[in-house]
Amino acid sequence: MKLTWKPYTLQFKHPFRIAHGVRTTTPVLFTCIEYDGCIGYGEASMPPYLGETHETAIAFLQKVNLKRFNGLQDIGAIMEYVDQLENKNTAAKASIDIALHDLKGKLEGKPVYKILGADPSLTPYSSFTIGMDSEDGIRQKVIESGDFPILKIKLGGSEDMKILETVRACTSKPFSVDVNEGWKDREQALDFIYRMKEMNVSFVEQPFERSNTEDQAWLKARSPLPLIADESCRRFEDIESCRHFFHGINIKLMKCTGLFEAKRMVVEAKKHQLLLLIGCMSETSCAVSAAASLTPFANWADLDGPLLISNDAFDGIYFEKGKIRLSEGLGIGAIPRVGVFV
Ligand code: MG
Repeated sequence: MKLTWKPYTLQFKHPFRIAHGVRTTTPVLFTCIEYDGCIGYGEASMPPYLGETHETAIAFLQKVNLKRFNGLQDIGAIMEYVDQLENKNTAAKASIDIALHDLKGKLEGKPVYKILGADPSLTPYSSFTIGMDSEDGIRQKVIESGDFPILKIKLGGSEDMKILETVRACTSKPFSVDVNEGWKDREQALDFIYRMKEMNVSFVEQPFERSNTEDQAWLKARSPLPLIADESCRRFEDIESCRHFFHGINIKLMKCTGLFEAKRMVVEAKKHQLLLLIGCMSETSCAVSAAASLTPFANWADLDGPLLISNDAFDGIYFEKGKIRLSEGLGIGAIPRVGVFV
């Protein structure tokens, strides 16, 4: 198997405001794995909080020797080898995992959702993200959400209640909120959550910093809305702690090294009756099509990443009035757009 890669930079339609700053671009990297006349595609997305860059991802990929494997019978064994090469680089690892699954599907004549045992008729709706913005900016983004019936509102600053009131003044759509570790005061957090329950909010993602398990446990015992772990739940082994502090987890391929581990996390989460959200970073339709293959197992999905960028590099996943539709194509069902790999 031959591994090659191509760095790429995502441009956002709108500057991307989060609790910790503003971003206008995100580095990503596409991987290609060739075997037996087929090519599998993968993607690593590297938002700053994961600590990866084009340089670190390339340095990692240069260490990977797939020639030692003869075929794709056991992706788990290949990913075990890839994972032990370094402690971190989860996005670079995910780019290999996604390309391996894409390749396996193409060689076996199957879509990846079949390899994962998912029923494509059970896909949920994806939320449409409303990033932190001015009142006018938020109103504009609510208009852009179009026929997506569920929104996800980014919070975590000093104007949270004003943001929610602005959203509620222009739409009655249900929404979830993502605090991105932004809240500091647990009493105030609980007060917010009670007010949000009145506003038809479905769940609250990552209220406190991931290290703050004390306030998280306090809040879980009192919250009238489900609390979902994102930054606190990166990999399979985090589920053991998260199940005590949260009602559910947000699985993202870039945190957990890809589909192989993500599927194991789905099974483990269900064993503990945890609610499941399948999310994404800022990603193209390559990685998001792979993640979408898992959504039939989830309660919710947040896979609007490709809709928030102006230079998607693949065609794959699509939405019908917000409902996720899996491509019938083989592998992850994503095809590179003309000119991306020249
Ligand atoms: Mg989040």
